[in-house]
Amino acid sequence: MAYSYDDQNIFAKILRGEIPNDTVLETEHSLAFRDIRPQAPTHVLVIPRGAYVCYDDFAQNASDAEILDYTRTIGKVCEMEGVAANGFRLISNAGAEGVQEVPHLHVHILAGRPLGRMLE
Ligand code: C5P
Repeated sequence: MAYSYDDQNIFAKILRGEIPNDTVLETEHSLAFRDIRPQAPTHVLVIPRGAYVCYDDFAQNASDAEILDYTRTIGKVCEMEGVAANGFRLISNAGAEGVQEVPHLHVHILAGRPLGRMLE
């Protein structure tokens, strides 16, 4: 599917420096920052710098370099936050039924408390 990117979304504004963020890690193609409404003691969002609406858009249209950088950045943040010891969850909401609030790809890294079962 062809995705239409809204460059006025809040994460586009963060990437342009128009809105502040609590940065955890910056790389050539990615930015990680703390969620403004944390749902767990560790709640970091990782976004690509490129204009991708959701994971599907990114996986189909991003360059190999962007995909490698993004994947490694998520791993690096997990390492920096020390989430592997007790476990963690990655979530990427997409579209209306996925209840995606901000239409710029982001992966939530959640950790630091029991997160409960998501799927039965
Ligand atoms: O996956 P979804 O689109 O619903 O999540 C968007 C996330 O972006 C929310 O967890 C919200 O708290 C976060 N957010 C943020 N900083 C903003 C606006 C939203 O961390 N300025």
